[in-house]
Amino acid sequence: MSPGLWQPYSLENGRFGAHILRMTIVKCDCGAEYQRTEEKFLVPHTGYASCKICGATLESWSETTHVPTFDLVKRPDGKPV
Ligand SMILES: [Zn+2]
Repeated sequence: MSPGLWQPYSLENGRFGAHILRMTIVKCDCGAEYQRTEEKFLVPHTGYASCKICGATLESWSETTHVPTFDLVKRPDGKPV
């Protein structure tokens, strides 16, 4: 019995989880900054992400297993998120 063989949601595995491909910072035209995290899913996803401040589309994707998520890290007016 090998411990940790099947723990998809454990914190230890999540920190260095192989499913997270890369994290980058993207900036919207309105000045808001987002942390973009790309994750690999087992099934293809279609969707889009829009800016929470101005509503502009940050990125759209279609039938891909590499799905980005966006977390607002900086508002254009400098106020705390
Ligand atoms: Zn924006």
